[in-house]
Amino acid sequence: MSKVYNFSAGPSVFPKSVLEKAQQELLDWQDSGMSVMEMSHRGKHFSIIADALESDLRSLMAIPNNYKVLFLQGGASAQFSLIPQNLLNGKTKACYLNTGAWSEKAISDAKTYCDVVVSASSEDTNFTSIPDASTWLLDERAAYFHYTSNETIHGVEFSEIPDAKGLSLVSDMSSNILSRKIDVSQYGLIYAGTQKNMGPAGVTLVIVRDDLIGYASQTTPAVFDYAEQAKSQSMLNTPATYNWYLVGLILKWLKAQGGVEAIEQLNIAKAARLYKAIDQSTLYSNPVVVSCRSRMNVPFILADESLDKQFLASAEANGLYELKGHRTVGGMRASIYNAMPEAGVLTLIDFMAEFERTH
Ligand SMILES: *Cc1c(COP(=O)(O)O)cnc(C)c1O
Repeated sequence: MSKVYNFSAGPSVFPKSVLEKAQQELLDWQDSGMSVMEMSHRGKHFSIIADALESDLRSLMAIPNNYKVLFLQGGASAQFSLIPQNLLNGKTKACYLNTGAWSEKAISDAKTYCDVVVSASSEDTNFTSIPDASTWLLDERAAYFHYTSNETIHGVEFSEIPDAKGLSLVSDMSSNILSRKIDVSQYGLIYAGTQKNMGPAGVTLVIVRDDLIGYASQTTPAVFDYAEQAKSQSMLNTPATYNWYLVGLILKWLKAQGGVEAIEQLNIAKAARLYKAIDQSTLYSNPVVVSCRSRMNVPFILADESLDKQFLASAEANGLYELKGHRTVGGMRASIYNAMPEAGVLTLIDFMAEFERTH
């Protein structure tokens, strides 16, 4: 099969060298005589993999010592319910910013557990902007303040850490984790499904400040109680061992690229080129306010919707895969995560120009 570029929003593209490494080690991990899939999660071989996973993530994100790093299951979606169950600690309110489809899901699930204060919403702009911080309603009685740092479907991203006015800041970073430098110490909790920017589906990262854990509601299952999982290094039950290994390979790859700061520069360059191509064309457009445009997910529509099918078919024939936009937004979406090489973005831009010229 010839070279293809995969622009899927998730599960998403892997660096080829990581897939090759996994292939090399599939049958026999580092002379252990076993595949990682066959190893006991409590055995000496797997503990090397687990220790490296946590320490590599801590160094890549400069995670302070007073934060726990958990690798759980259930996806980011499970966290929509688990965050209130773990963090409310007797309080009855939590604040949420509503900036798109993923915020809406987080809000909807949290409502089962608490009074959700929607601090602000950009629904009136069809989620093409971020409400001005001066308008946010932050209730000091709330247990925390939640926002989605990158709206994967709408292509809206925060370029700065929001001011939580003293509340514990909680962020869904599923689709931009490790794509840009962030100051973890500004957060109470960060969570992310791994399948966008840090590996395969099946692992959910939770980074949480020490003082926030240990207050789970009595009905919280033990495997979803952050304090219980922290006590047992995320091995209260059998973790997704092979997926941990793959996430670990991605982290080693990222370190070899020069870490988060180096990949951030590449991400800035890739996104700038694609948005520029869209803005300069008459066929394509992106509706998001420039200062809130996502570096990871770039939605765009064609001026003539009747060309959508042809665009997608022709893109695929040219090795450009998974460009169909989310059904709620329509049009196209190019997800250009860390593992998408610059060459992939340039090939897409060339294809788009050629399609515009011939249609
Ligand atoms: C993909 C995604 C989710 C859902 O993740 P699952 O692991 O499938 O539950 C949640 N939030 C954001 C921002 C996402 O991009």
